Amino acid sequence: MTLGCQMNKSDSERIRTVLEEMGYRPAEEEEADLIGVIACSVRQKAIDKVYARIYKWNRMKSKRSLVTFLTGCVLPADRKNFDKLFDLVFTTNELPELPGMLRQYGVVTSYSSTLRGTGVNTGKSDFPELTDIARDHHKNPEGKDKRNIMDRLWEIQPTYHSDFEAFVPIQNGCDKFCTFCAVPYTRGREVSRSSREILDEVYRLMERKYKSVTLLGQNVNSYGKDKPGQELSFAGLLEEIGKLGERFGNRCWVYFTSPHPRDMKPEVIDVISRYACLAKQIHLPLQSGDDEVLQRMNRKHTLADYREIVHYIRRKLPEATLFTDIIVGFPGETESQFEHTREALNEFMYNMAYIAIYSPRPGTVSARWHDDVPADVKKDRLHRLTADLEKTALQGTLPLLNRKVIVLVTAKDRKAGYLAGHTEGRINVRFPSYDVSLIGRFVSVQITSVTPFSIEGELTNVMEEKWTTAVE
Ligand code: SF4
Repeated sequence: MTLGCQMNKSDSERIRTVLEEMGYRPAEEEEADLIGVIACSVRQKAIDKVYARIYKWNRMKSKRSLVTFLTGCVLPADRKNFDKLFDLVFTTNELPELPGMLRQYGVVTSYSSTLRGTGVNTGKSDFPELTDIARDHHKNPEGKDKRNIMDRLWEIQPTYHSDFEAFVPIQNGCDKFCTFCAVPYTRGREVSRSSREILDEVYRLMERKYKSVTLLGQNVNSYGKDKPGQELSFAGLLEEIGKLGERFGNRCWVYFTSPHPRDMKPEVIDVISRYACLAKQIHLPLQSGDDEVLQRMNRKHTLADYREIVHYIRRKLPEATLFTDIIVGFPGETESQFEHTREALNEFMYNMAYIAIYSPRPGTVSARWHDDVPADVKKDRLHRLTADLEKTALQGTLPLLNRKVIVLVTAKDRKAGYLAGHTEGRINVRFPSYDVSLIGRFVSVQITSVTPFSIEGELTNVMEEKWTTAVE
């Protein structure tokens, strides 16, 4: 069970591989011998759900033999409490040790040695001409491998949750220490994955005709900074992925999340503008539109810095959609500071904003400060900002009315007789169809109605041939 973000889902794909290597197979909760949860302390809601689950599982233990484990991004304060409730609590980067831990616990498994050889990293690349730089830099000057514990995790072949969409972790941890955020304490400092391994994984996914690949990291655009001269830069990595896209006919959209505005360099935007497979959708967290609040959040940039990047994105990628994250009710946030956030949201015309009400996370710097914005004020700010967002988002969907858009079909829609998907810019789309064989394929849809966060239309074509534009 995963109770967290895309990074946790990506972790769960590797955990599944490890467990299947050990002989475990998916089972219903009522019949399982081993139950685990991949959770995230970044939101209290997820932690509350973990408590609900473990109390239930511990009641089940009185009737049958059951081993429980917890992993993911768990803060030390939460971990201390969960240690008493779960049989095993371990960090994600301890995952390669899971078979040993279970054996110590008395669980006999068919798994016999280490995790090496489970798939991804065989030491050879499938496309040597593209990865010379990465391979040459992968060893230190003495030629010795510098693989660390995260490398051991990443070399596990994931059991992907889908056969057309995949997450590819490129980096773990964060050095930014925003005062509200638990990530540097749960995931540790920034570590970049080997460029060669990333390119190998993306190559294989494109070869298997995956339609959507999302590069993941807590601070994705600082990729390579911890290993200068050893791995590619983030722009360099995107460039190589762009070339892979060309090689495979640009039939895959490649996304990345989450970047930090401070590291969003013009060369990253330039690369995205040059390659068709690099999706024209940018997620750029704002958090606040007020410089004083940004400073207290330790975001290390000003609103003016942020504005400069948005202007560059608009100039180089005029068709790109813009998504963001915003926190309302940060300690000390005054009404006028909140108004600055509203002004920023209206200025940058976001297509989507994930707006969160501030809640202190134990162990973070801001948790020591007085959480002085009353709950009803926080809620009111959330509602006002959401109303503003609906207006800016509608400005993004209105131009799509009566146009044809390319859509990746991802699932059946909640409305019976409809399929759901999204555009390259991650605008949600639905259209009438019972043909579930279209799930996982690109189709063309003529848009007949729009709302702020979704559009609807009629299927006009199923994409077979090479295509280059996402909107006609
Ligand atoms: S940059 Fe992102 S992950 Fe890193 S501390 Fe700040 S909010 Fe957390």
